[in-house]
Amino acid sequence: MIKIGIPRALLYYQYYPMWKTFFEELGAEVAVSSPTTQAMVTSGSSRVVADTCLPVKVFLGHVLSLVEECDYIFIPAIRSVRRKTYNCSKFLGLPDMTKAVIPESPPILDIDINIDKGRRDLYQAIYKLGRRFTWSPRKVRQASMAAWQAHLHYHELMSSYGLTPPQAIERILSTPGRAEPETNSHQPTSTQATIALIGHPYLLYDEHLNHRLIQRLEQAHNRVLTPEMLTSEELESATVRLTDTAYWTYGEEVVGAGEHYLQNGADGVIGIMTFGCGPDSLMMDMVRRRATMLRTPFMSLTLEEHTAEGGVITRLEAFLDMIYRKKRSG
Ligand code: SF4
Repeated sequence: MIKIGIPRALLYYQYYPMWKTFFEELGAEVAVSSPTTQAMVTSGSSRVVADTCLPVKVFLGHVLSLVEECDYIFIPAIRSVRRKTYNCSKFLGLPDMTKAVIPESPPILDIDINIDKGRRDLYQAIYKLGRRFTWSPRKVRQASMAAWQAHLHYHELMSSYGLTPPQAIERILSTPGRAEPETNSHQPTSTQATIALIGHPYLLYDEHLNHRLIQRLEQAHNRVLTPEMLTSEELESATVRLTDTAYWTYGEEVVGAGEHYLQNGADGVIGIMTFGCGPDSLMMDMVRRRATMLRTPFMSLTLEEHTAEGGVITRLEAFLDMIYRKKRSG
């Protein structure tokens, strides 16, 4: 059986159940890299120039960890998933960049997703990918429909039942067939404060990079809200309220979620970004200004390879103290 490696980084958190379903429906086996380790960060960083953003370095570290493990590595180039809205340029060249800097990689399965070119182009791209496994267009169609259903179910688990992507993936994997929805049991029953985390999933849910931020907040009896717990309509309307039109596909994770939670009862907002990310520094600043206007505490946490755990903990404690004092003083 053909084994396909999927790096647990970048768009994994958005699309893993869909990709897994697609390949398995076509008879392949899927292997995911382990959670991020310092060795992966170091090995990924060693392949690119220093000012490459941290998530891309981490992604390359995950690819390197899969080199000996599989027959192919799946790396899509996702340009746009909505008309007139574009992805960060790093995503577009990911397959080519990986081939160039990791020549020992197994062959890369790529697909160019550009919704701006229309549905016909999308179907052709999916068929081109599926043809590596079967010549039957019907089988590819069936696999893509099953994959789409898996994607919708995954997002329903997050937006309707308050699960984070790792919790929703765990639920799907542990319950074959359609997982029974249950609300997030990780959230504390009595809360000190409601904290919204905004940023890209590859930063919010990579526990190595963010030093277990969600877990720390929940252990301190805070309710944690993240962008994935909102519907796409909620994200879109909040983004449009703040910026008029969304240009960056994943800007909604920052601007839309920030605006929505600021307007809907978050006691504080933490923005997570990485050093050297152009799009995020602009979008995070927009949310920071909005938070200042609405007198809601906002903290921006910029992660990089050398971010020390102690520094994150100290800043987090100071931020939470400020929120608790503000709440007590009414
Ligand atoms: S949005 Fe920023 S952090 Fe994400 S891949 Fe692009 S440059 Fe890197």
